[in-house]
Amino acid sequence: MTKPAPAADTVAVIGAGPAGLIAAERLSAAGLKVTVCDRMPSVGRKFLMAGRGGLNLTHSEPLEAFVARYGEASAWLAPMLRAFPPQGLIDWAEGLGQATFVGSSGRVFPKTLKASPLLRTWLARLAAQGVEVRTRREWQGWNEAGELVFALPDCGIESVRPSATVLALGGASWPKLGSTGGWAPMLAERGVATAPFRPANVGFDAAWSEVFRDRFAGQPLKGVALTFDRRRVRGEAMVTRYGLEGGAIYALSARLRDAIGAEGHADLWFDLRPDSSEAELAQKLAQVKAGQSLTNVLRKATGLEPVAINLMREAHGVALPSGPAALARAIKGSRVRLTGVQPLDRAISTAGGIALDAVDEHLMLTALPGVFAAGEMLDWEAPTGGYLLQACFATGWAAAGGVLARLGVEV
Ligand SMILES: Cc1cc2nc3c(=O)[nH]c(=O)nc-3n(C[C@H](O)[C@H](O)[C@H](O)COP(=O)(O)OP(=O)(O)OC[C@H]3O[C@@H](n4cnc5c(N)ncnc54)[C@H](O)[C@@H]3O)c2cc1C
Repeated sequence: MTKPAPAADTVAVIGAGPAGLIAAERLSAAGLKVTVCDRMPSVGRKFLMAGRGGLNLTHSEPLEAFVARYGEASAWLAPMLRAFPPQGLIDWAEGLGQATFVGSSGRVFPKTLKASPLLRTWLARLAAQGVEVRTRREWQGWNEAGELVFALPDCGIESVRPSATVLALGGASWPKLGSTGGWAPMLAERGVATAPFRPANVGFDAAWSEVFRDRFAGQPLKGVALTFDRRRVRGEAMVTRYGLEGGAIYALSARLRDAIGAEGHADLWFDLRPDSSEAELAQKLAQVKAGQSLTNVLRKATGLEPVAINLMREAHGVALPSGPAALARAIKGSRVRLTGVQPLDRAISTAGGIALDAVDEHLMLTALPGVFAAGEMLDWEAPTGGYLLQACFATGWAAAGGVLARLGVEV
């Protein structure tokens, strides 16, 4: 039986990032009156920031492999990712006039490589569906009457009692974009279990020599393979003044972070020529004419860039091992000791947040009936590659489905 949404049913969506906006889209499409509130003067600031890197919306790998990227949260997220899968997100973006393409690594981007055109048309669609977006409204919790309390730009206070609430307040990284994690104590006070915030997809400290730091900070180590704790990933790492960051580092960052937390350091192994075996490299090195500098030998025989050769010097000593076999071994295994994790405010995303067992299968907080949660504020984490946005969209969609079910609105 289809029941139209009763006119009196209003839903408050708090947080105008991708999770909140997609929830607002589904709810308003079902006929509910939706108000989206955000503390910032404009919406979707982190989404727009993601657009600076090309807006990696999702990933084209098979769904089973895709779901596995969420580690411990995979089984929990799986039904939501199946209900709003990568192809669903691609279709949605294309429905907003944003053609997409699959990059060489399988990552999916809009052809514009920007978030702003997508956000613009999205907001126009929401306005056409009657969604009211109210910025500069900071949610401050509930008052004694159980109403939502917002601080207004003129220092006033507004309290509202919607039929249902979707919280989509984001994690705690890049706080200047609006998501500060300030909601955590407010929810904890109301009996919602939360896990401590931790940086995810973050850089790590390494004790570079001054020479290496000054000369190579900002240079990429391309096409390398990194191994930590028996997990090997291929990709790119970026040398920074403090240590290392970049896609391949982020792919290992949860394990590296936890190891540094437990042991104070983590040893990361670089294979600087993953497509050649040690024997092949040794053979090539042996063929270079004598009398040349070691740097030239390495460059000519293996094509290694100066940044890679000097990373080997950081790992094996300035003199480097002598002889083709030992050099080949060094190319295939250079150890970098990571000694610290960059802070949460510099991380791309946040681990921790609302415990997954604090919500029911519709993402309603069991301690707060009628209040739903979506997006990065939930305790899942994933590497970069489009997995973050995909889970924000999928959980926003699911939370809206939960609201519809609770209000008895069928679509
Ligand atoms: C530099 C960078 C690049 C990224 N690139 C990518 C990428 O290419 N692909 C990808 O998948 N992911 C990427 N991400 C991650 C992705 O942007 C986030 O995971 C995603 O935006 C989280 O969505 P969300 O809706 O859960 O929260 P957010 O986007 O953080 O939105 C939460 C909103 O809640 C509002 N808010 C918070 N507290 C309050 C309050 N008390 N009252 C009112 N409003 C409040 C905030 O102002 C904010 O607008 C990137 C992140 C960063 C920092």
